[in-house]
Amino acid sequence: MEVTFWGVRGSIACPGPETVKYGGNTSCYEVRNDNGDIVILDAGTGIRKLGMKLMASLPVTCSILISHTHCDHIQGFPFFIPAFVPGNKIDMYSPKQFEKSLEAVMIAQMDYSVFPVRVAELSAEINFQNIIEGPFEITGFNVLSQYVCHPVTSSGYRVEADGKSMFYTGDHEKFFDQYHLGIKEEDIDPDVKAQMQTIVDAQNARIVQACKDVDLLIIDSMYTNEDYPAKVGWGHSTIEMNLELAVEANVKNIALSHHDPTRTDEQLDEIFIWARKMLNDLGGKDIILTIAQEGKTLKL
Ligand SMILES: [Zn+2]
Ligand SMILES: [Zn+2]
Repeated sequence: MEVTFWGVRGSIACPGPETVKYGGNTSCYEVRNDNGDIVILDAGTGIRKLGMKLMASLPVTCSILISHTHCDHIQGFPFFIPAFVPGNKIDMYSPKQFEKSLEAVMIAQMDYSVFPVRVAELSAEINFQNIIEGPFEITGFNVLSQYVCHPVTSSGYRVEADGKSMFYTGDHEKFFDQYHLGIKEEDIDPDVKAQMQTIVDAQNARIVQACKDVDLLIIDSMYTNEDYPAKVGWGHSTIEMNLELAVEANVKNIALSHHDPTRTDEQLDEIFIWARKMLNDLGGKDIILTIAQEGKTLKL
């Protein structure tokens, strides 16, 4: 199995001289098994270039797993050339968002008021499927959909093939006590707080279990612990929280991704240095640390 990073940026594409090294495209990852079957994780702006590459070998047959339909995870799809070509087949999967089906969101994104071509005019065979939590199979891969905290509905995916495994979180924040967010400590009933913490711990334990022993964990690392107090509930974890998760889940390689759009190449290089030291200090010196970088391929 091999994984190629096509878009590693969160929220909005940010091309420019300060993002040349790690890239400015939004979320998109290509996973191939040894048989050449393809599953694409999210359809941010990075999927445009991936589509151009796939056109070299027709017909294109692939699956696309959408973590959630926030724009930075779907906005590249209208520019995915294989969708325009007859004979190609694309199976797309996503949990529903606010009761809206994946198909409804994609149709809205390609309404004439937004884009010059409608979904109905795409010539490839495109199948939209709404999924819930749990295991399912797609061509060439076993998949587990695991809801994460964004806090809106969003699915992480464990993908397995050829005896290898990876987990992609999509956008994800470590579960926390949302019930007491913004309430003063003195106004909180300690019993209720303890009950909530039990639920939160159980939710986080399920995430650890879903990531257990994977060969690669691609994880939303938008913030640091220093950024976090002002961003609680915004739906993204911190690098420090993610390193702890990597150690607890015993992953082989952790790829920090969904970089904040303001993060420069220089800052990401600095993050690698301190995160490597922190991972060692946490007992994870055998874990490979990767800063997700557009164009890079990892063989698992
Ligand atoms: Zn995002
Ligand atoms: Zn999001």
